[in-house]
Amino acid sequence: MKQNTLVHHFQVLIDEECCKGCGLCVTACPKQILELIPTRLNRKGYHPAHVTDIKQCIGCTSCAIMCPDIAIVIEGQVE
Ligand code: SF4
Ligand code: SF4
Repeated sequence: MKQNTLVHHFQVLIDEECCKGCGLCVTACPKQILELIPTRLNRKGYHPAHVTDIKQCIGCTSCAIMCPDIAIVIEGQVE
């Protein structure tokens, strides 16, 4: 008998120009896959957040909820 397997694909969309580099999303992520990019500055002069390993994202949306600037949107798909 064939087993049904759900495959989750998530995208974490971060608006770098809205990010103020506060790091709250980095702290909130249970998978520890967010970090501030030390080598990049946005137009406001902040180090923006980015995802280091999207394959580990569980789509929990903690980062998006935590972001005070609403700079993060999670998109998901189940196959
Ligand atoms: S949705 Fe959850 S697991 Fe994915 S990056 Fe945000 S906090 Fe981390
Ligand atoms: S919580 Fe929002 S503003 Fe703060 S570092 Fe993350 S994306 Fe940037």
